[in-house]
Order: sequence, then structure tokens, then C-alpha cells
Amino acid sequence: MSTGAAGRENPRSRVRMRVEGVVQGVGFRPYVYGLATALRLGGFVGNDVHGVVLEAEGESSAVEEFVARLPLEAPAMAVIEQVDAHAVDAQGQRAFSIVASDAAGPRTVAVSPDAATCADCLHELRDPGDRRHRYPFINCTNCGPRYTIVRDVPYDRPATTMAGFALCADCEREYHDPADRRFHAQPVCCPACGPALALTSPAGDVIDGDPVVAAAHLLREGRIVAVKGLGGYHLAVTAGDEPAVARLRSRKHREDRPFAVMVSDLDAARALCAVRPREATLLSGPAAPIVLLERAGNALARSVAPGNRRLGVMLPYTPLHHLLTAAHPGALVMTSGNVSDEPIAYRDDDARARLGGIADAFLTHDRPIHMRVDDSVVRVVADRPVPVRRSRGYAPQPLTTAWEFPRHVLACGAELKSTVCVAKGRRAFVSHHIGDLENYETFQSFTEAIAHLSRLFAVSPAVVAHDLHPEYLATKHARDLDGVELVGVQHHHAHIASCLADNGVTGPVIGVAFDGTGFGTDGTIWGGEILVADLERFTRAGHLATVPLPGGAAAIREPWRMAASYLSTIHGSDIPDDLAVRARNRDRWDGVLAVAAAGVNSPPTSSAGRLFDAVAALIGVRDAVHYEGQAAIELEQVADPAERGGYRAAITGGEPFVIAGADLVLAAATDLRAGVPVPVIAARFHAGVVHAIADACERTRDATGLTTVALSGGVFQNALLVERAVARLEADGFHVLTHVRVPPNDGGISFGQAAVAGARDRA
Ligand code: ZN
Ligand code: ZN
Ligand code: FE
Repeated sequence: MSTGAAGRENPRSRVRMRVEGVVQGVGFRPYVYGLATALRLGGFVGNDVHGVVLEAEGESSAVEEFVARLPLEAPAMAVIEQVDAHAVDAQGQRAFSIVASDAAGPRTVAVSPDAATCADCLHELRDPGDRRHRYPFINCTNCGPRYTIVRDVPYDRPATTMAGFALCADCEREYHDPADRRFHAQPVCCPACGPALALTSPAGDVIDGDPVVAAAHLLREGRIVAVKGLGGYHLAVTAGDEPAVARLRSRKHREDRPFAVMVSDLDAARALCAVRPREATLLSGPAAPIVLLERAGNALARSVAPGNRRLGVMLPYTPLHHLLTAAHPGALVMTSGNVSDEPIAYRDDDARARLGGIADAFLTHDRPIHMRVDDSVVRVVADRPVPVRRSRGYAPQPLTTAWEFPRHVLACGAELKSTVCVAKGRRAFVSHHIGDLENYETFQSFTEAIAHLSRLFAVSPAVVAHDLHPEYLATKHARDLDGVELVGVQHHHAHIASCLADNGVTGPVIGVAFDGTGFGTDGTIWGGEILVADLERFTRAGHLATVPLPGGAAAIREPWRMAASYLSTIHGSDIPDDLAVRARNRDRWDGVLAVAAAGVNSPPTSSAGRLFDAVAALIGVRDAVHYEGQAAIELEQVADPAERGGYRAAITGGEPFVIAGADLVLAAATDLRAGVPVPVIAARFHAGVVHAIADACERTRDATGLTTVALSGGVFQNALLVERAVARLEADGFHVLTHVRVPPNDGGISFGQAAVAGARDRA
């Protein structure tokens, strides 16, 4: 407060500010209005194509306070990337106002991600006196649907799937009142004017009664209900009901890939799992992802997540979810509304057609979903959130970069867990999770995602980055584009670049890229790579020794083939006949090895993922998988955390040096035959991989002087491996980079490709 002498006018000043980032559609202008009027400032605030512009004037001390508080107290959904403030001449303005948007000019304003129901809306939802009591579409500027309903920019109601719902007088008043929490909240609505819920049979006949109450009743009876959410349909079933969960698995043709569950609140999550503070923050934050938690107890049906020590848990993130979990106490399986590996259904007619044979009823509504967006998945490793799938609640949040993209870039990603990325200026926009690009429907989603992101963020790609694999649909798409400059990026270089860009650094670093498979520059299948890399280029410093991949893709589905391949590399034709993996697969064992020896459909691979597969099969964890990475995931879970021993792998040669992964397999086989328990072997194998990584980095540091290591690739979703590798490398004096904003798996590849393309463009 000013302490000027009585009778003298306090000094006045005026400031002009520009705020950039995610500041539109998130309640930023009402927030500025509220702060300015509280401080008795005059002036204005408005949107333009770059973000928010404002001028504020009043007592100098109040203006100073305004400038200081503005970024600190911003609305939950706002992401402030840059604030510029400079003094201008005071004009004597006493009133503060919100001015109209300026939609002209190039679009650079970010469309925000969808956000979970806020505390204020939740309070109203539960308040019998509120006009939106129990209204399943309640939202405000701080929460609700965004990316999933936006058709175009500027982000205004006519450009969303709410265009067909005319505001009633009450909603209209809230929408135009700068002091209201719903001021310019584009999806604002109420029971009088907004979308409505319906419970129907698979044939579309309306089931009488309160749709939520009736749906909860069906769920309690063990029925499967398709529930229309933010970015698509879920299939819901009572998680404690074994026959119901088993029926869902068989109808969905999903063998044993874990289902995620939704529980009503944090306490309910704690009843099922250990919830650490960082995990609680993630669960209840605006992105509300699925968080992979350590299970505590066995309260749920066995078929929810068979053979898994972890459980994917999420909290309600739409008002409908809140109503449903309140009406149905007890966890619900909430899994993607699809059959097997197809994309999640999000259009009503399509959902009915595809899910009609699975669901017993549909809990649905008439607000269209424009963008199909799956739930995000996060895992906390060493107290840091690691994205496993970055989608709803995160996409299309821009990822700022520490450098400039000289020209607009499109990066097409890889094949599995596909994402695309468009980039310009200092921002990269990574798409939602598209899925595995193996069928026409997913490919269509891929091209739609590119078109949508390009339109929303006004990107006209001049440079297009792609994987080197000639058969990937994403690569073919890139090569079919006319009038663009193509940049081929090696898969593992893209992984390391993604980790560098994730951490805002340019390298060079020692890059450890361990994953399933990626196309190498020498025609072999890479996947256990030690690179010396910066954003622009890389050299292959070392790699796992290659072994045949017997049967190609069949070896990915059947890890026992990798055990056979490694064992024959070690023993030639004298593989000990007392190994159980051989006995279990006796019928095909010799045939597979003969094919490998003849080099028929058995390309050499240095894949680290396949090394994990080999050991998992060898020690009896799993001979065949139903989803990517299953054997390695189960191998991690079986490992005894108390075991301190570790195997050693020899490293020989140079430029590139070769790591003998077979040494680890041999050590595991020797322990197995000596009767060492499987959990101990699994732990010693993990420690062996950590030793190998540390030794390889040591060699590379000796040769190059580099002291920073970047860990990337799908294998680094393994928390045990990451925690041990980071601890060991740091103890050895390395600075270690891991992923925080994009996944270490192929979902992060498009971001890495874009970073490489940008760096080559700057060179
Ligand atoms: Zn809200
Ligand atoms: Zn209304
Ligand atoms: Fe990969």
C-alpha cells in the first residue's frame, strides 16, 4: 500500500503486457479481470493471435503487485511460456474491461488439452440447490472438454462440437459475465440447453429411468456397459466380478493385457494400491491419467490384470464419471472401447456397430467427439513421472524447445504406439496416441491427426521427417508428399534426440537406445545401441552382439524362439537338453533353429528387447506374448528386489564395440540348472544389463570425453532397470538424462524426429 502524504495524489503508472502459452480457453481473461479489479486497476485484456495482451494502470505499487502476481496465480489449465511487460504512458483509465478477440492473422495460439472436472464444478454437481445438480456435462473455464471437441481455430463455440447447442438465457448471461467462472467457457451448458444422457440397448432402444442409476444397476448385475467419455468409448464392468471381467476379455478378444480401473477417489485408490505422494498428485491433477501403481492386496477379480504386480488406476475425470462412480461403489474396469487392437470407438454409429457385440448397454449422449483420444498412462520412476502413453490431458500441449525450428516441420513417427508431431518456432506439438499403424483405420487416424494439428496450429510443413524403415506406413506417407524436403532419421537416433529435446539440451551425449526393433543403417535390425549423438547426427559407438531373429515377427510373438536363438549362439548344436524351455517347445525347437541356421526369414538383430525376451522364456516366465513387451514386463515384476548379485557381459572390439548379450543368457541358464530361484535370476539379469550399460558408457567416455548419458527406448519403461542404471551411472560420475515429457517408447519418436529435422535445417 502506498504511504504518500495526505492530500497528494499517489503516483500512477501503466503497464502493457503480452502473455504467451496456453492462455486461451482456460479462463485467463476473467482471471486477469478479477486480479486487476481487486487491485483497483483500469485498463483492458484481450486475446490476439499470439496469446493475451493487456494494459493495466493504477497506483504504481498496485501495478507492480499486479505484474508480480499475474504469472503466479494463473488458472490451473493455463501454461505461461513467456511474459513481456513494459511501461507505457498512463491515460487516467479507471475501469477495467475485457475486449473482443482478434481472429485475424496467423494462428499461433495453443488449443489446450481436455481437463478433469474442477473442484468448483464438482461442488455444484453435488449441490441439490445448484441448477446443474447432477448434470453430467457441467464444466467451466477451468475444466472440461477442449482438444476432443475443437474442430477449428480460433477456439470459439461455433468451431467446437457444442456448435449445435444454443445457449439458454442463464448460460448466455454466465458466458458474457467477465466476473463469472464460465465467462467465455466455450462448452458451457446446462440441463436446459446442453447435451443429454441416455442409456440404450445395443440396438439403440432407450432404457427407462435415470441413465446413470440404471447403468450402475446393470454393472452391479455383471453386465458390460459402453460408456461415452471425453475422447472415446470405454467398456465398463465391475472390477470385483470375475465372471463379468472374464466375459469382457473373451468378447473383446483380449487375452491377458491388463485392464485399467477407475475408482471414485484417492481413498478408494489407496484401498487397492500403494499411492505415493507424486502418484496422488498425478491421479488428482487436471490431466487425470492412468497411473501405474503397485498393488496392495487382491481385492479385484483375477482377470483384471493377471500376473501383474501393478494396476493402472485413474480417477473420474468427467462429471459423468463422477456420477457413475458415486452410483457404483467399488472399482470399475474402464478399458478402451474397441475389439483387440483396433482404434477406440468414438463416433456413436461406429461405437454401436463395433461394440454392439460386446456391450450389454450403452451409456451415451449427444455431444459429438471430434478427436479420438485415448487415456494417458504415466508411471512414477525415481519420483519422476514418466509418460508411457501421452494422450488425453496432455495432447496437444506444446512442448517448448530450447532452439528455433527455421521452417515448419512434420514428423511422421514410427509404427507402433504411433504419434505425429508438427513444429514451428520454438514449439513442437506432439499428437495424441494414434496406435499401431498396421491397419487402414489407424492409418486414417494418422492422416487425420496430421491434418488437424496442422490446421489448429497453422503449420504448413516444408520439412518432413520419417523413419528409415521403408515398409512403415508412416514412412510411405512421408515419401508420397509433394513439394517437401524429406529427412530420414534413424530410429534409435530419434529416440536419443527425443530424450535430448525432452530435457532441452542439444548434446552431444552418450545415447543408450534400448528397445524392441528399429531399422539400422546397415540393413540389420537394431535395438541395443550405444550412440554418440547430438540432435543433428550420430555414430554407432557400440551395440549388443547380433543374433538371428528366427521367423522374424514370429520371434517377437514367441520369446522362446529368442531363447533358442541365443542358446544356439552359445552352444552351437550342443544345447543342454535339460533346459525346460527346450522341453516345453520340443515340437518346433529344431525346426526353428534349422531355419535360423539357414538364414531364412531370420535377420540378425542387436535388439535389447529380444534379449529380455530370451531370458524371460529361458527361465519360464513366458514363452509367447499377447502384447508388445509382455515378457520383459513380467520379467521385471518377477525380479527379487533384494538380490544384489549380477551377471557380466564381455565387451570386445571397437568402432563399434560389441556387448556379448549371450554371456547374460549363459549365466542365467547356468544358475537355472543349479536350482537358483527364478526371482534371483531375473534380478541378476537386470543387474547384468546395468553393468553392461555402465561398462559401455565408460568405454565411450574414455574414447570421447563425453560425460552425459541419455537413456531412451521402450526397454527404459522398465522401472527396475532405469532406477538401477541411473544410480550406477551417477555413482560413476555421469550426468544422466531420462524422459519426462514424452514416452521413452516409440510414442516419443515423432518428437525426436522433429528435433533432428530442425537441427539439420539449422545446420
Ligand atoms: Zn470447472
Ligand atoms: Zn443453459
Ligand atoms: Fe523404438
